[in-house]
Amino acid sequence: MEKAIMENRNSYYASEEFEKKYAYTGNDLGMHYRNNNILFKVWAPTAGKVELVIFNSGDIEDDHEEQICPMKQEENGTWYCSITNEYEGKYYMYKVTQKDGITTLACDPYAKAVGINGERGMIINPSQINPQGWESDKRTFLGKNATDAIIYEVHVRDFTIDATINAKYPGKFLGFCEEGLKNSFGQSVGIDYLKELGITHVHLLPIADYGSVNEKEENQYNWGYDPKNYNVPEGSYATDPYDGRIRILEFKTMIKKLHDNGIGVIMDVVYNHTYNTDFCFNKIVPGYFYRFRDNGEYSNGSGCGNDVASERIMVRKFIVDSVKYWAEEYHLDGFRFDLMGLLDVETMNEVRKAVDSVEPEIIMYGEGWDMETSLSKSGILMAKQDNTKYLDRIAMFNDDFRDGIKGKVFLDDENGYISNNISKVPDIINGVKASPAWASSPLEVVNFLSCHDNNTLFDKIEIGNEGITFEEKVRQNKLAALIEFTTQGMILMHAGEELLRTKKVTDGNFISDSVKAGDQVNSIKWEDLGKKEYQDVYRYYKGLIEFRKSHPLLRMTQREEVLKNLHFIKEDEIIEFLIESKGSSKEAILVIYNPSNQEVEIELPEGSWKICADWEGVEPNGKCMVANKVTVPHVSGMILIK
Ligand code: CA
Repeated sequence: MEKAIMENRNSYYASEEFEKKYAYTGNDLGMHYRNNNILFKVWAPTAGKVELVIFNSGDIEDDHEEQICPMKQEENGTWYCSITNEYEGKYYMYKVTQKDGITTLACDPYAKAVGINGERGMIINPSQINPQGWESDKRTFLGKNATDAIIYEVHVRDFTIDATINAKYPGKFLGFCEEGLKNSFGQSVGIDYLKELGITHVHLLPIADYGSVNEKEENQYNWGYDPKNYNVPEGSYATDPYDGRIRILEFKTMIKKLHDNGIGVIMDVVYNHTYNTDFCFNKIVPGYFYRFRDNGEYSNGSGCGNDVASERIMVRKFIVDSVKYWAEEYHLDGFRFDLMGLLDVETMNEVRKAVDSVEPEIIMYGEGWDMETSLSKSGILMAKQDNTKYLDRIAMFNDDFRDGIKGKVFLDDENGYISNNISKVPDIINGVKASPAWASSPLEVVNFLSCHDNNTLFDKIEIGNEGITFEEKVRQNKLAALIEFTTQGMILMHAGEELLRTKKVTDGNFISDSVKAGDQVNSIKWEDLGKKEYQDVYRYYKGLIEFRKSHPLLRMTQREEVLKNLHFIKEDEIIEFLIESKGSSKEAILVIYNPSNQEVEIELPEGSWKICADWEGVEPNGKCMVANKVTVPHVSGMILIK
């Protein structure tokens, strides 16, 4: 696009005149299947002519047009047409001619189904694409608090691509929910393993259609942070990426199976940038979807080449409609917003409201990083940590806690509290209380040790402690886990963290960004579960999860409650705190962290105490009674109850 035209367009889009004239508020954008016809509506305010083009095939390489239907201009820049139901199962695109004469073919931004590689929308009857029993499928977490959540962050393909488990559908939605999978030691893996581990939710790395993987080919790999179609599941996770109905059916099958096993499903959504600027919305309304710098280049706060202009009315509506659609149609239990600091507060609160209309207990959290971006309007508040107070029930990742535990993720030579870096004590204290400066309640805080980004926890420990032995690495990892599961706030763990997950490659290098590193680096290595030292760590996490779930004092929801019930006895190299309910329950939990290289003797508060966790293992109901004092060995933690 010419720079001058683009600048004109940008100021035109930002004008009050444009917003007044073209803000469309209807809920009928996209394709809608009715009993007696199928309706299409698209927002294309800059177009002079729009047509619906119907194809027999969903493949862009089969370019034979079956039929062209003219679309009629309606209110607020929308275009509309209806066709008969006989077209169900065919594919469609919009042929949009701008007033300057340029014509493009574009997929429907609101498409609910697409063909191979997401190029063409599919005409479907959504009510026909549900697994058996879908009507009675229920969210599993209702009646609980967000602080009860123990979230397992996992990539669909990583979870079952390991050949040793012989999944029938390795790396697919159907593989994810395949019951009865075992490793060569005969231990349960896959969904059965998750059930045993005791997590409450899986948080799936992006499963909406993305562009970086060619769905026509097998054995490609990407995390999927490159959205192509926002309202459609990714084709490479389906057994048939050509027929747009299959990916919908199989993703819903997976959700239902997880729900049936008591596990909620959280979706990682990427509304801050798109795969590229050939994105269909951008073809239909050139330049409207993105932010631009003064020099005419795309704003690039995300580092992915194009920042989405969430502050524009019809982009905001698109994001709100999209999240609501997933919540409603796919019965999802939560959403994790990628680079949420690039989205604006008003959009996020609108999303919250729309999600509430489906189910107010749906969990929302995101990456509230403070990022540079070129907003298209002034006076816009961004959804970053410091603005948590303006957001309604949207939690943020606590990166200070993460870095406090193991050292800053971008500084290889910095280690953390578990390596006895005492400068990190304040970050640990704030993690324990779920009270980083930006939060006002534990419901706003997601505490985590590691996630898909950066080095794995186990690798980071090794990188920060040159020459460390395997045994000492395991001790630090177990101490980190004991700290994590005794903090207030929501808990998120990186899949495989409990199996000492590593992304160390054969040449000894550690991969910190494995977005394209393939299965060998990224897959969950299920054979590890059969090795004694790994099994031990798995049991440690499992025990901590069970302990946390049976103690509401670790899952308080209000800051005042935390201040009232949680008291630090030591806040130094050794951290010791007591959580006591002053109410009717007489429960008390005493927690000690010792990151030093020496054992320490701790004087116990009055009474007899049961040790529930120490360096060795976790016995949620208590392993032995002690009184007066205990010895906490080097680099370890202890949990006691009264
Ligand atoms: Ca795709």
